[in-house]
Amino acid sequence: MNLYGGQVNKLIEELEGLPGIGSKSAQRLAFHLIGLPEEKVQRIANSMIEARKNVRYCSVCCTLTDKETCPVCSNPARDKSTIMVVETPRDLAAYEKTGRYEGVYHVLHGAISPMLGIGPSDIRLKELITRLEGDVKEVIIATNSSLEGETTAMYISKLVKPTGIKVSRIASGVPVGGDLEYIDEVTLYRALEGRVEL
Ligand code: ZN
Repeated sequence: MNLYGGQVNKLIEELEGLPGIGSKSAQRLAFHLIGLPEEKVQRIANSMIEARKNVRYCSVCCTLTDKETCPVCSNPARDKSTIMVVETPRDLAAYEKTGRYEGVYHVLHGAISPMLGIGPSDIRLKELITRLEGDVKEVIIATNSSLEGETTAMYISKLVKPTGIKVSRIASGVPVGGDLEYIDEVTLYRALEGRVEL
């Protein structure tokens, strides 16, 4: 049904393709955008294009950044010998919000899922292994407590253990199947503090 003409429909369709946006939200967003002053829409569009163009993976931890290395990796005050492994840049942001973690991170960009056909080589594991050749004392596995997160944690611990580097897993307190992003800072910090050695 073409109620608004091709341009409006096209915009709605594009927005509908974004994660978490259903058809109702897409319509709402489309009408909101159309109602904004043109310069404002231009600014939004530009920031999307600029971010897409300039944002890449940090050469050390693989999180998203617009520099060669991200702010955490380039901060001399951070303890480079402790690496927390997370699934996504959003998980990294959640731990940073606690303000209590002084180590660095490694972002996998996913988790191993035999069911979805995602294997170890489909996530940023090789980069983690390379980092272990440096001066690393502990690897804290903070993947989600979903089946995929647990599978990934197991896989990493098997890889790291032979190197003699300490491997730990964040404690329970993080609900099963819980997405780290939605857990409050106190719970996250407790999970980190109560981590158990594998
Ligand atoms: Zn980094």
